[in-house]
Amino acid sequence: MRMTRQRKVLLEIINQAANPLSAEEIMQQAHLQDPSLALSTVYRTLEKMLEMGLCQQIRFQDGLARFEQAGLVHHHHLVCTACGRREAVPTCPLHQIQQQLETASGYKITYHEINLYGLCPDCQKKLATEKSSHA
Ligand SMILES: [Zn+2]
Ligand SMILES: [Zn+2]
Repeated sequence: MRMTRQRKVLLEIINQAANPLSAEEIMQQAHLQDPSLALSTVYRTLEKMLEMGLCQQIRFQDGLARFEQAGLVHHHHLVCTACGRREAVPTCPLHQIQQQLETASGYKITYHEINLYGLCPDCQKKLATEKSSHA
């Protein structure tokens, strides 16, 4: 029963967040509601929620796992390596490949993570301006 309540608390935090949250960030918020919550419990609960498809995990360039709302609309992220800006990409080319992989490997694939890194339009402009001012 306790497990279910914790799951509900964590799920609410993840679903209400504007950005993907790390386990530590989720715990900080969860502590406001339940100060007895241990980080190990948060990790365990998050793992369980991933397995159940209640949330999804993504990793940015810093390698830290972050959690976000399970996709009503499945998406990936564009990440600017200069300013850190993140944008959702609402398309995914992987679903068909995923099905083929499931058949071939026998795995039940529950989620995947892809981030695309590069320079956002603003940073490209900034870079172009810097170059031309040095010329
Ligand atoms: Zn940028
Ligand atoms: Zn995808």
